[in-house]
Amino acid sequence: MSHTVIIGGGIIGGSILYHLYKNGYTGKTTVIERKSQLSQESTSLSAGGFRNIWSTKVNLKLTNYSIEAFKMFKEELGENIGFEQIGYLFTYYEEGFEAIKKFKPELDKNNVRTELLKPEEIKRYVPGFIPTIDHIDKEENEILKMREIAGGLFGPDCGMFNPTSASNRYFEYSKEKNPQKIEIKLNAEVKKILFSGNKTIGVELTDNTIIEGDTVILAAGAFSGDLLKKSVNNEEYWIPIVPWKRMLFTVKMPHIENFEKIPMTIIDNGVYFHPEKSNLLVGRADPLQPFGYDYKPEPAYYEEQMNYYMAARIPGMDHCRIISNQSMWGGLYEHNTQDKNGIIGFHSDLENLFIATGFSGHGVMEAPAIGLSASEMILDKTYKTIPEVNDLAFERFRKNQLIKETIVI
Ligand SMILES: Cc1cc2nc3c(=O)[nH]c(=O)nc-3n(C[C@H](O)[C@H](O)[C@H](O)COP(=O)(O)OP(=O)(O)OC[C@H]3O[C@@H](n4cnc5c(N)ncnc54)[C@H](O)[C@@H]3O)c2cc1C
Repeated sequence: MSHTVIIGGGIIGGSILYHLYKNGYTGKTTVIERKSQLSQESTSLSAGGFRNIWSTKVNLKLTNYSIEAFKMFKEELGENIGFEQIGYLFTYYEEGFEAIKKFKPELDKNNVRTELLKPEEIKRYVPGFIPTIDHIDKEENEILKMREIAGGLFGPDCGMFNPTSASNRYFEYSKEKNPQKIEIKLNAEVKKILFSGNKTIGVELTDNTIIEGDTVILAAGAFSGDLLKKSVNNEEYWIPIVPWKRMLFTVKMPHIENFEKIPMTIIDNGVYFHPEKSNLLVGRADPLQPFGYDYKPEPAYYEEQMNYYMAARIPGMDHCRIISNQSMWGGLYEHNTQDKNGIIGFHSDLENLFIATGFSGHGVMEAPAIGLSASEMILDKTYKTIPEVNDLAFERFRKNQLIKETIVI
């Protein structure tokens, strides 16, 4: 009987497990998770946003599929995952708005519903929004460098969900349906992936236990790059994945009528925010953040890089302080330094090693499609549903065929 080893108990590992059995896998699987509970790394530290607005075909396809899967989650897996299509609203300066206007027909062609908004129309979705800059102190704006908003793009099918619930349910459901075939090992850390020649034969844990497997799936999120480095000496076999801290802050909501109904909104300096119960969850990906395993939230980062911009666009936002020390956190992107997109598929040189990581800030929203695609490739050796997933193979780095995504947050 075949034996699959999944390294990583996050939403990617969970979705692969679920889809393997759904699509007819009859072998055994061992899931290995270093923490004492499943789904406690990036999956639970993420903002839980999903969108189908992308510039690359593969991301359009992966997210369109995944949104439909999230919509059906309760029916299919019996769990409410807090799926809410509250929409995403991007705001743009002039050149960005011209570019997105030109790109809109491509979105239309791919069944991505969007609405272009004039500056004054943004208020319809974000009450109080000020697209102009006349009210901003000139000296202050020399630092902020804010410009007039030329327009917006609203995607009504985008929204938010609870990735921890979805991830846990993938594991729980799979185990319920296949109790004899699935083992989930918690508090178990893979020290290295084992090879015989270039063929993957299993993993060794930090307590020296060896778990043999004829397919090993690397879904260890931000730890995946270092784990592969520890497992093979040849640099050419490594994957360009590094841990990169991203911070989120829960802050008070401004006193503006209906503000709790706003979509996920992206403004100047890449600041994004969305309602989180009666508060706002605010984030911004810092391009200057050094790579590394750093989780520490920095309140000064919120004050300096986010709040000024929010206050300039929304009246009263300067009073929206961080709620408490417990309401902010840092988590790790499994950042792909080459093109900020996932790496999925069998490794070109290491036989039987399947990679599913590197999603760089969009892993939870693509998880259903990644799980489905992985199961198809592992069981049938082809991507039947979303052939574009071939674009995300490890081989693209060798061929220098990077998949550069331009609609990033
Ligand atoms: C602040 C923040 C906001 C984000 N917002 C969004 C968003 O809005 N939308 C979106 O789609 N994505 C978002 N992301 C990205 C998203 O969280 C990730 O892409 C996604 O969680 C990846 O899932 P995963 O299962 O691969 O990784 P993880 O959830 O990190 O799971 C990997 C698991 O592997 C385990 N592991 C690691 N090494 C080993 C080992 N050696 N042995 C055993 N187990 C191991 C870890 O403990 C972990 O549980 C965000 C990320 C962060 C940090």
